[in-house]
Amino acid sequence: MTDTFKAILVTRGEDKSQSVGVTELTDADLMEGDVTVRIEATTVNYKDGLAITGKAPVVRRFPLVPGIDFAGTVVSSDHPDWARGDKVILNGWGTGETHHGAYAEKSRVKGDWLVPLPDGMSPRDAMAIGTAGYTAMLSVMALERHEITPDRGPVIVTGAAGGVGSVAISILSKLGYHVIASTGRTSEADFLKDLGAAEIIDRNELSGPAKPLAKERWAGGVDAVGSTTLANVLSMTSYGGAIAACGLAQGMDLPASVAPFILRGVSLLGIDSVMAPKALRLEAWRRIATDLDHAKLSALSVAIGFDDILQAGRDIIDGKIRGRVVVEM
Ligand code: NDP
Repeated sequence: MTDTFKAILVTRGEDKSQSVGVTELTDADLMEGDVTVRIEATTVNYKDGLAITGKAPVVRRFPLVPGIDFAGTVVSSDHPDWARGDKVILNGWGTGETHHGAYAEKSRVKGDWLVPLPDGMSPRDAMAIGTAGYTAMLSVMALERHEITPDRGPVIVTGAAGGVGSVAISILSKLGYHVIASTGRTSEADFLKDLGAAEIIDRNELSGPAKPLAKERWAGGVDAVGSTTLANVLSMTSYGGAIAACGLAQGMDLPASVAPFILRGVSLLGIDSVMAPKALRLEAWRRIATDLDHAKLSALSVAIGFDDILQAGRDIIDGKIRGRVVVEM
């Protein structure tokens, strides 16, 4: 008898409408790759919410198992870097978009996509961080490369109560930055202060149309929101500052002027986690292991089971998720 395992599958009808449900797969359904991983933990990122709800065309091959990241144990490998029993993490590379992703008990992937689970970190810890947290780390590293050090002045984090935002606050505060958290959920002020935010501002302050230049308020920042919020953030960045842009929770547009760039020498740093080169990934996960207060991880994450994934996907799009969701498989 062939062993089956549970998986979430996104399918598309003849009318191109997308639907999602739970099904059983076998090893024969796994996609091409040289390493098979038993998935022990995954998470629900904003992008996974878009894939589950079909609100944006994240899934581009059908039928497909969604889920853009996982942590687990290698069960078989034809790749020289990996052997049975190795603990691994995968973020992006098209999993959950064009390659079967995390919402199944197993996945077959390219060994080149994997990074080792850092020593002392459990699969659950890694997914409490997840792609959102790894992206927050990539953003902080970009600010550092731009020499935005804590002595340069405050830094802003937008989408503060979300996944990227909450991890960015934790990392930046541990590194000694004065963090200003912008949120629409001011009821979460205590949560954000516990993570390390020094000041909380209402996101409405940043969501209207932006002036070309406004009063200088921060030396740098991590923006998970895009649209007019990013335009305002740029217009309020002090001379020579830099903003790492990684998200589009408000919108993909950027109704800004060039004034911050040409009159204040401000830089806009683009952050992509999906195709980021391996060296950057290894560095990001190494830094996460050292520069993120692991006690804070449990404060910023909630655990759910496989059966709760679909609802969590809808909730993250409705802005109802605080911090990070970790799925224990
Ligand atoms: P979450 O949904 O957890 O967080 C997004 C946060 O943005 C919300 O919690 C909310 O914060 C804020 N927000 C939502 N809607 C609006 C709005 N209309 N106007 C202003 N603020 C809003 O998502 P993640 O943290 O997982 O991801 C954040 C963004 O980063 C997403 O757009 C995601 O696609 C992107 N991303 C990009 C990656 C990359 O490689 N570049 C990788 C990972 C994520 P609050 O309630 O505090 O206001």
